[in-house]
Amino acid sequence: MPLPETFAATLVAARDLAPSVRGLAFERDDGRPVGHAPGQWVNLVLPLPSGEIRRAYSIASAADGSPRFDLAVTRVGGGLGSGYLCDLPVGARLSAVGPQGFFTREATSPHPALLVGTGTGVTPLRSMLLSAVAAGSPAPMCLLLGVRTEADRLYADELAALAAAHPNVRFETTLSRPSDAWTGRRGWVQAHVADLLAELQAAGAGEPHLYVCGLERMVKAVRELARKQLGLPRERVHGERYD
Ligand SMILES: Cc1cc2nc3c(=O)[nH]c(=O)nc-3n(C[C@H](O)[C@H](O)[C@H](O)COP(=O)(O)OP(=O)(O)OC[C@H]3O[C@@H](n4cnc5c(N)ncnc54)[C@H](O)[C@@H]3O)c2cc1C
Repeated sequence: MPLPETFAATLVAARDLAPSVRGLAFERDDGRPVGHAPGQWVNLVLPLPSGEIRRAYSIASAADGSPRFDLAVTRVGGGLGSGYLCDLPVGARLSAVGPQGFFTREATSPHPALLVGTGTGVTPLRSMLLSAVAAGSPAPMCLLLGVRTEADRLYADELAALAAAHPNVRFETTLSRPSDAWTGRRGWVQAHVADLLAELQAAGAGEPHLYVCGLERMVKAVRELARKQLGLPRERVHGERYD
C-alpha cells in the first residue's frame, strides 16, 4: 500500500445529515483522484486557535476516481476537532493526510458481507456498498445501521433507495430509542447480527464476511459475538473503532 500523501482540499458542500451529524464534501485542490480503497480514512489537519490538531475521518463516498470525497462528522460534546469541522464554512481549505487504513473491502469482492455501523460508523460501509454497486458486484450485501432515533438515521433514504434498486443489496435500521410509531427493528445492533448473518449464509453465495465500525464498546461486543458465539473465523471479521 502506498504511503499516505499530504494534500490540500477545499470544503465544497456541507449539510446536516442528522441533528448531530454534519455531512462535508471536500475536493482535492490539485484535481487528482482521492485514490482510496473502500473503507479507508483521511487525517484532517485542523488549525485551531489553540494549535494544530489532527483527527481521522472515514471516507463515505465511493472509490470512483474523483477528487471529491464525502465525510460525516458527529458533533461530539466538548470535542475540539468535531466542533471545528461542524462549523467549517464552505470554501475553507484544509490539509489532509491519506487515504490510509486497513479496514477495507474490495469493490469486486465476491463474498457476501454484513456491514454493521452505528452512527457515523456507517461512513466506511457506505463507501464499500457504493463502490461495490458501481463495480456491478453481484455479492449479497446487507448494511445494518444502528442509531438512537428516527431523526438520527443518516443516509437512510439514500441507502433504502439503493437497496430497492439492487436485489443483492439490503438495508436495515435498528433504533435504540425509537418512538412508539416505529415499526422496524429495535435495540442494539448486537441483537440482529446473528439473524442477518444466517440469512446471508442461507442465500448460498458463499461464507459471509462481517465488517463492523463505530465506537469501541459496540465494535468489541459485535466482534466477540461473531467470533465466540457464532464461530466466525478471524479472517472473516473486520473491525474499525473510532475511540
Ligand atoms: C480510523 C478512524 C476513523 C474515524 N472516522 C470518523 C468519522 O467518519 N466520523 C466521526 O464523526 N468520527 C470519526 N472518528 C473519530 C474522530 O477522529 C474524532 O475522534 C472525533 O471527531 C472526536 O474528535 P474531537 O476532537 O471532537 O473530540 P476529542 O476531544 O478528541 O474527544 C472527545 C471524546 O469523543 C469520543 N468520540 C470519538 N469519536 C466519537 C464519535 N463518532 N461519536 C461520539 N463520541 C466520539 C472520544 O472517545 C473522546 O472521549 C474516527 C476515528 C478513527 C480512529
